[in-house]
Amino acid sequence: MNAPLWQSWDSEFVWHPYTQMQLVPDAVPVERAEGSYLYLSDGRKIFDGISSWWVTLHGHAQPRIAAAIGAQAAKMEQVIFAGFTHEPAATLAKRLVERMPRGLAKLFLSDNGSTAVEVALKMSLQYWQLRGETRTTFLALEDAYHGDTFGAMAASARSAFTAAFDPLLFDVVRLPFPAPPFAGNDYSDAEHRFLNDLGRHCKLSKPAAFIFEPLLLGAGGMRMWRAEVLREAVTIAREAGVLTIADEVLTGFGRTGTFVACEQAGVSPDMMTLSKGITGGFLPLGATLCTREIFDAFLSDDRKKTFFHGHSYTGNPISCAAAVASLDVFDSEPVFDRIAAIGAVHSERMRPLAAKLGYASRMLGTVAVMEPNNAEGYLSMNSLDLSKRALAEGLLIRPLGDTIYFLPPYSTRAEDMHMAYDVLERLLTTTSF
Ligand code: PMP
Repeated sequence: MNAPLWQSWDSEFVWHPYTQMQLVPDAVPVERAEGSYLYLSDGRKIFDGISSWWVTLHGHAQPRIAAAIGAQAAKMEQVIFAGFTHEPAATLAKRLVERMPRGLAKLFLSDNGSTAVEVALKMSLQYWQLRGETRTTFLALEDAYHGDTFGAMAASARSAFTAAFDPLLFDVVRLPFPAPPFAGNDYSDAEHRFLNDLGRHCKLSKPAAFIFEPLLLGAGGMRMWRAEVLREAVTIAREAGVLTIADEVLTGFGRTGTFVACEQAGVSPDMMTLSKGITGGFLPLGATLCTREIFDAFLSDDRKKTFFHGHSYTGNPISCAAAVASLDVFDSEPVFDRIAAIGAVHSERMRPLAAKLGYASRMLGTVAVMEPNNAEGYLSMNSLDLSKRALAEGLLIRPLGDTIYFLPPYSTRAEDMHMAYDVLERLLTTTSF
């Protein structure tokens, strides 16, 4: 089949995200998507091994969500959300709060993961001001990734992603990553260091908040940390009067095996950020949840004490209707059985494959990761080469440097997942990576 005419328009007019346009000048033309597969203009079928940048949840073009979007678009596409409201937003707020760890009581909407983080950072700073305290710094993890806007970049690790902007990013106190022990249940040195530093800085630096990706650091290398350490960290911060912000933009909506990752640690943070899978992966939407105590601190007769934040599309009814439809899927279909079935194939295939190659491996919920011991960072050319060869074999992966991972949609059946492992195994055992 010939390349479609619009492909040449893309080459001529479009600048793609996170793409060195000289090395990867031609984007792959996708005609349609269904379940766990993308269908390309040349007729090929590609397994989406990374849920299209971690957003696709129940599957591409999931019919119930598609129908809800169509119905809402025909009824009301958008309305100002300052002083006005509508059923999809109110329903989403009620149903999300009901599913969240107890204590998270109010929902503030924005457009994407980065804006959900910006809202949390700004809300926590203003909260302390309203309480009459000056707190102007944050605690954040080494290797963290919280987004691409300036506040979210500041909270993220300094890396190739932020290098061009570093001089303008505000400082945060960086805590060492709590890498788990290789074996056994005792705390590792890294976990001790993390908890000690956290305790020290909560007192010394008087931070506004500690922001973290619970259990799974995404773009920072799909690194995993333990629920018991998370539980202890939240306790330490809370006892020191420091707010906690759980960034569940990636981990929310079942990715790690529970509805949100915080559940596994039995913790309820003061704030939580959500995006990506919130609409089932159909439309952009960001959400920041907070406690009633934080919300109440902003209540005043003085208009200067307003939380001055909002985006043109805040609370977009179509995005909210998609999110409600995705919650309906959670309520009426065996979503967690699907998640467990994907995890079972990961356990069966990822560890033996990694062992065969002499790689390290780790798993959590629907996410499986492996990397060589001498893994190179994000800019490793190996990742481009492997992605290209995988695509030629019908598999979409996007390694983070030498770190290879699967994070598939929940529509993925065991046979799809096995096929993806067969391809990966063939690629990695026939060529050195
Ligand atoms: N937080 C985390 C944990 C993320 O993984 C991401 C995106 N990868 C973001 C925030 C930013 O989300 P977005 O890309 O929607 O701005």
